[in-house]
Order: sequence, then C-alpha cells, then structure tokens
Amino acid sequence: MSLKHSNKARLTKPTEKISCILAPNPSPMTFKGTNTYIIDNGELAVIDPGPAIDEHFSNILDLVGGRQVKYIFLTHSHVDHSPLSKKLSKTLNTPIYAFGGSNSGLSSTMLSLIENGYDSGFEGIDYEFCPDRVITNNEKFNLNGEYISAIHTPGHMGNHVCFQYDKILFSGDHIMGWATSMVSPPYGDLTQFMNSCRVLQKENFKMLLPGHGDPVSGPKERITFLINHRLERERQIKSTIEIGPLTAMEITYLVYNDIDPALINAATRNVFAHLIDLNNRRKIKFLGPISENTKVSLNL
Ligand SMILES: [Zn+2]
Repeated sequence: MSLKHSNKARLTKPTEKISCILAPNPSPMTFKGTNTYIIDNGELAVIDPGPAIDEHFSNILDLVGGRQVKYIFLTHSHVDHSPLSKKLSKTLNTPIYAFGGSNSGLSSTMLSLIENGYDSGFEGIDYEFCPDRVITNNEKFNLNGEYISAIHTPGHMGNHVCFQYDKILFSGDHIMGWATSMVSPPYGDLTQFMNSCRVLQKENFKMLLPGHGDPVSGPKERITFLINHRLERERQIKSTIEIGPLTAMEITYLVYNDIDPALINAATRNVFAHLIDLNNRRKIKFLGPISENTKVSLNL
C-alpha cells in the first residue's frame, strides 16, 4: 500500500496494520486536517473518509489499490468527517456504517432546542448524512477474524462513535491530543460528553488515534485531564452565578476576561453547554425557557 510520491507526506503508519491519510483541510477547527484511517489486516476497513476534496479521495483510492473494502465507518457527521463517505461508498461498493444521521442520539432537551429554531454554530453539521447500516453501542465487526467494536460516545455530537481495534481506540473528535473537544449545543451535549469520557476512562487502551492531530500515547491521562478541565470550567461558572442571575453571554464575559471578540459566540456556546448540563443535574435553574438569553441562578 502506498501513495504517489508527491502525496507521501500525507501518509503515516501509526501501527503495522493501520495507515493514516491526512486530508488537505487545515483550519483552526481541524488543526492540520482530518485523519482518515485504513485498517489492513488482510481485509480493509476505512474510518472517517473526511471532507469531499478530490486530492484526498484519490489518495484514499491509491492506498486501497483496487482491493475490496469491507467497511466504511464514520465517527460522526461533521462536515470535515462525513461528506466523502457517499462518493467513496459508491466507488468502492462498500456500505457506510454509522450510529445514525445528525439528529440521532440527541437528548430531548437538545431536540426541543432544535425544534425551537436554535441551530448549530460554526462547526458544520452534515445535515444530509445518512448511513447505509445503523450501528449500535458495543456492536462488533469481523475483519478477517479480528474484531472492531463500536462504542457509542455521544457528547461532541449525539451520533459520535469511537471504534476499538487491538487495544487501540479510534477516538474521532471525542478525545484528541492537540485540543479539548468542542461541545456546542444543540448537537453537542456536555452531560453526554462527560458520561462518555467516564465510560472510556475505565478502559485500558494503549493508544488513541484521533480525528485530528497525532496519536495519543497516554489515553488514561488524557481522558482524566479532559474531565478535570471541564470540572474546573464548571467550578468557575458556578462561582460566577453566585453574583446573581446571569445569561450565558454575561457569564462568558466574566469567566473569559480579555476574550477576543471573534471568539465570543463560540465561548458562549461552551458556557451554554455547561449551563444545560448543570441544569440537567439540578445544580442551577433557568429562569424561563432554556436558551442562551435566559438568566440562570443557582439551585439552592
Ligand atoms: Zn467533529
């Protein structure tokens, strides 16, 4: 398996059986670009085809080299992960396996926010995405006598799934090394995200292969760091609300002082994610319908 000489820099080999092709879509949201992984143990599986960019498509086909691909798996349906799956599936005649469309796996709170017109931020939802085969939590897939297991890890998106193969976790955008994951309502859900982190924290993975950035060699430490990072932010938000009833944006200005105005909306969504989570856990209450503009107070 190889790429044309000019594209060799895009190929890495995290293990003997796993190749990673970096898509040419770098940005502040995607870091160096999206990682598309190919497992080859005699049979082939592709994880996260990535964005619909011709160069990336031909790199994947070059690496596949005309062989049959048994599975196309998708971690979640953000536009930097899923759009190429359709074309790749058609070309290779391989079904797409995913948890569901972009609304699947969401809590009733998030579904009612969507119903009331609250849309996603800048993260890019692939609203069109529809898998050929719907996968369930803990479902196992046979690849030449070995198994790839799906672990439903909602939070970054409701339909987010990590895949385990040979003590390695393909962690998608749920756990990455270069950045903490974005959790942006209504498609991102912090209550789900923390639960998913705690599920993974119990496991003994030897390496994480994330959707963006380099392999993570200390999975337990990284997951624990991310949980603590969120708990620290939660503590800051709760102590700010002690001042009195505030909206998500008012809290954002107090918690993130000196924030770049260009980042205020993203930061407000992050605070809103915390407020919905705190409300779910009855630590705070919204003084009206749940929204970014509704004041919250501590639930004493
Ligand atoms: Zn994502």
